[in-house]
Amino acid sequence: MKPSKVGVLGATGAVGQMFCRMLEHHPWYDVTIVGASDASAGKRYEEAVTWRMDTLMPASIAELTVQSCVPEAFEGVDLVFSGLDSSVAADTERAFAEAGFTVVSNASAFRMHPEVPLIVPEVNGGELLTISQPWAGRLVTNPNCVVIPLVMVLKPILDEFALSSVHVTSMQALSGAGYPGVSAMDSTGNILPHIEGEEPKIEAEPSKILGQDLAIRSTAVRVPVRNGHLLSISLGFDGETPSPDVISSLLSSFELPSWMEGCPSASSPVLKVHNDPMQPQPRLVEDEAEGMRVHVGKIRGEGPLGISLMALGHNTIRGAAGCAILNAEILTLHANNL
Ligand code: NAP
Repeated sequence: MKPSKVGVLGATGAVGQMFCRMLEHHPWYDVTIVGASDASAGKRYEEAVTWRMDTLMPASIAELTVQSCVPEAFEGVDLVFSGLDSSVAADTERAFAEAGFTVVSNASAFRMHPEVPLIVPEVNGGELLTISQPWAGRLVTNPNCVVIPLVMVLKPILDEFALSSVHVTSMQALSGAGYPGVSAMDSTGNILPHIEGEEPKIEAEPSKILGQDLAIRSTAVRVPVRNGHLLSISLGFDGETPSPDVISSLLSSFELPSWMEGCPSASSPVLKVHNDPMQPQPRLVEDEAEGMRVHVGKIRGEGPLGISLMALGHNTIRGAAGCAILNAEILTLHANNL
């Protein structure tokens, strides 16, 4: 397939940079237009951005002139990835969708909109095959960076058991706050017990993705880790609690769904279950499978207190840009069906 030209909205931010990095060698997509705020527009990308990726800035993107995020500036591309600040995503992403673009977004603005699919590719990516929207283009979102690993763990369990409660405490990495993010004075040798606006998203978004009302209580804290959100999850069951071995086997055998066959960025196994109680650690596993894998460990428990486990996902890859790229790949793969 000849690569098609794509754009990145919010290309200078933490998620936008990850889009640029992950799309550099993508077989289907070629980034030809980048957009950011008016403070960056008109500058060459390499001058506008504070590059914080571990890899070198892609040379072909470094020399692009940053555009304002208006549809007229993105002529020549059909698909835009959005790493826009949520405060501007509502107006900007709608303008692009109305102008006929396919918008694949990370921002929260449209996640709970009834006509916008909220997609985790391995869980409900099949919804993209029948998408019908009121705009000339399309608008697809992926959830919050904690919700992605959370629903990937819940899906195979809910296929077999009914849950009465889900408690999740997320220990969230610094890169989740964007760049420059949390000050060193606040984060060094410290844990911040609150992340504004985070807990309601984690409690609301899974029900839309999984298609059933789930009782979720969430606590979100910021920890001095660079990348990788670690989740402590406790599950209450309707009826008898299954054994940790049964849960482990369900999670290990979660396979890629048929609608993802052929997606270049898909990773199999979807979940990696660790038996070592010292895993998963962000620093040790964040880069495995190019950051696309979700890791699970410490599955334990029995009786009325249910099952507890840990899960880990790279927040800017699996929890943001990588998830959006998979959503775009499903749309591209099934374009003839749409
Ligand atoms: P960020 O580092 O603060 O980047 C924000 C981007 O939006 C920058 O490119 C910025 O451009 C651009 N922007 C700001 N105001 C704008 C305006 N008025 N018009 C056009 N562009 C504007 O934020 P981030 O962490 O990458 O997050 C981006 C989005 O992804 C947010 O909606 C966030 O909730 C979501 N998200 C983030 C993560 C994560 O782990 N970081 C995970 C999942 C989802 P300038 O550089 O020119 O200001």
